[in-house]
Amino acid sequence: MTEITIALSKGRIFEDSAPLLKAAGIIALDDPETSRKLILATNHANVRLIIVRASDVPTYVQYGAADLGIAGKDVLLEHGGTELYQPLDLNIARCRMMVAVPKDFDYESAVFQGARLRVATKYLRTAREHFADKGVHVDLIKLYGSMELAPLVGLADAIVDLVSTGSTLKANHLKAVEVIIPISSRLIVNQAALKLKRETIQPILDAFSNAIGK
Ligand code: ATP
Ligand code: MG
Repeated sequence: MTEITIALSKGRIFEDSAPLLKAAGIIALDDPETSRKLILATNHANVRLIIVRASDVPTYVQYGAADLGIAGKDVLLEHGGTELYQPLDLNIARCRMMVAVPKDFDYESAVFQGARLRVATKYLRTAREHFADKGVHVDLIKLYGSMELAPLVGLADAIVDLVSTGSTLKANHLKAVEVIIPISSRLIVNQAALKLKRETIQPILDAFSNAIGK
């Protein structure tokens, strides 16, 4: 019987994926939130889960270290998604990639064609493309987290970040001024694995599609 490895990140992706995995008959034998294990066995002798950083999921699948993975559209856009088959939008971990600025900042006046803006973000590629499309020059400042702080201490004029409720922005006197793209998590599949292990992978894909009503 073929072995299948599925790459996931803990936190919201694991929580939202667990019901979908269950619909495919896959239940983790350990809880990644409490276990220190990075490889989790499941009730399926031939299916295991690996727990990696959200932004590392595409890399594991791209190189075939995992056959399947679940990753946010944000992560896939930054990764480039080359060679990854993305058959399903799972509609989980939904939020929006947005531009945010201090609440008294006049964004409309600041982003005319040819303007220059300092933008702090973890999402360099997405931010670069977004502002290039508008003809706005950006000095991009790469951060790894807590982007909301940057405009408050003069590191940047604006940030590009994921927003769901907007409460973190509000708590830091920022406002969202532009939606770049709606975000949700996708199933990603290694192309070679799909060919070589189709008999095992296809039923999992079908169960996921059924569970999300597609
Ligand atoms: P880390 O927290 O390890 O630095 P991360 O922030 O990328 O990495 P998570 O916070 O677990 O990891 O986010 C995983 C994915 O969940 C993101 O890639 C994104 O697709 C989605 N996500 C992030 N923030 C939100 C949010 N506020 N609401 C809904 N989905 C979100
Ligand atoms: Mg996070």
